[in-house]
Amino acid sequence: MSVRVPGGKMKKEPFEATQFSFIEMFPEQGQRECRVATVYDRPELPNGAYAFLELYCIDPTCDCRRVMINVMSLTLKKHLATINYGFDRDEEMAGPLLDPLNIQSEYARPLSRLFEEILSDPAYRARLERHYQQVKLALKDPTHSIHVTTARAPIAP
Ligand SMILES: [Zn+2]
Repeated sequence: MSVRVPGGKMKKEPFEATQFSFIEMFPEQGQRECRVATVYDRPELPNGAYAFLELYCIDPTCDCRRVMINVMSLTLKKHLATINYGFDRDEEMAGPLLDPLNIQSEYARPLSRLFEEILSDPAYRARLERHYQQVKLALKDPTHSIHVTTARAPIAP
């Protein structure tokens, strides 16, 4: 399944640093490892496929240990929710939280609940953290191709 990449660079508050989607930084692996949930007969959500696109902060010196998730309806081709999730569960803003400064929709709350269900899979939680580490490691390597992506001019959303 092909997952469309939404606009590139975005400025994030209150988590400050610029974030890029994992699929942009690691296209092949990103396509393969992007979580997609197929929803059928859930009263609060339209039937269809929802992709949970991961965005990570690209400041190599920042240790925020978070991921931002853009929930995209692949069926409606629309960004319907933005969720912040921290890996350290005892942290105050660990989430998952609907990000008040980014795109939400009437489906944001049910999508956040769906994301929480997906998070109950320890393999998925581990994968998110592994992707975060992979991004940070690549950013610290000046020869890594990730810098070609992250140096690009911002794409309007
Ligand atoms: Zn960060």
